[in-house]
Amino acid sequence: MIAATSHADQLASPPGAISLDSLAKQGASGSRWQQLLADAITDPGELCTLLDLDPALVLPAIAAAEGFALRVPRSYAGRMRRGDLNDPLLLQVLPQAAELQPADGYVADPVGDLQRRAAPGLLHKYAGRALLVATGACAVHCRYCFRRHFPYGEESALQQGWEPALARLREDTSISEVILSGGDPWSLSDRRLRQLTDALQAIGHIRRLRVHTRYPIVLPERIDCGLLDWLSTVRLQKVVVMHANHAREIDDSVRQACRQLSAAGATLLNQSVLLKGVNDSVEALAELSEALFETQVLPYYLHVLDKVRGAAHFDLPETRALQLHQELTARLPGYLVPKLVREVPGAPSKTAVTAGSG
Ligand code: SF4
Repeated sequence: MIAATSHADQLASPPGAISLDSLAKQGASGSRWQQLLADAITDPGELCTLLDLDPALVLPAIAAAEGFALRVPRSYAGRMRRGDLNDPLLLQVLPQAAELQPADGYVADPVGDLQRRAAPGLLHKYAGRALLVATGACAVHCRYCFRRHFPYGEESALQQGWEPALARLREDTSISEVILSGGDPWSLSDRRLRQLTDALQAIGHIRRLRVHTRYPIVLPERIDCGLLDWLSTVRLQKVVVMHANHAREIDDSVRQACRQLSAAGATLLNQSVLLKGVNDSVEALAELSEALFETQVLPYYLHVLDKVRGAAHFDLPETRALQLHQELTARLPGYLVPKLVREVPGAPSKTAVTAGSG
């Protein structure tokens, strides 16, 4: 799910993502969603005060945020329980001292993104599909993000201009699906999205557009008339893969955004990450699947944690992941059970997690 490279930019976003300054400028003159984005909470002290959390959390949070900034939209923070350090939404975004503890096997690029670079900002991992790192900016900074150390300054198609990535896509007739990812591609303005999809639609062998985004969940105001107008004019088959990890992330504003995306012709799927303390119970996973389906979204993937540096405190033993998935399978109809997968660098597809597969 995530593009200058100054230190100030790194504090604002995943490494290399767009700066707070540029967001603020957009917000001053832009759409409501851009104003809300510019107004996101980035100060750990403010978040702790708003949520009535122990002030002792602030200094460790500031230290952990130095390498990967805090960013959380106010409406998303509004869905968190006050005074509850174990709130499953808070745990996904609060920088913690544990991020600074070294952990064996946790690295900067756990999925081998940089080995699969086909052009600046273009990753080609799987047959028939290519992933465009459209921007480094996100509406929220998820502490477990596997691209939290990604060099967006050098490897974002936006920063490098679209042309080298588009040229590669024109050349490779085996590619029928383009995945807009990042960062979060819906951080781009509607104008830029239109430019990009106009260029993609001119490539005869591209049939599908997939968007990986967390906006419908964390800043559903992004799904406004401008975005829906753009989406409804895209002639490619459209798949929106959103990213929710807990049923409490889904409120009325999220439900409305999903209904509108569906009405604009997009197939809606969800991918989640299995996270210790957030959704590591069969009840939480079942509630998430039910809540997604009520929102016209099918559960697609449940990823085990990618071992990215700074996220070891979210990991679960694989035996526990398998047990939870088996319990979920026993409880829900098959179409509500996401595939339990991991990403193995160099593998030709996501790898199913099965007994003995680790
Ligand atoms: S998981 Fe997605 S939304 Fe969250 S920081 Fe990573 S790219 Fe951004």
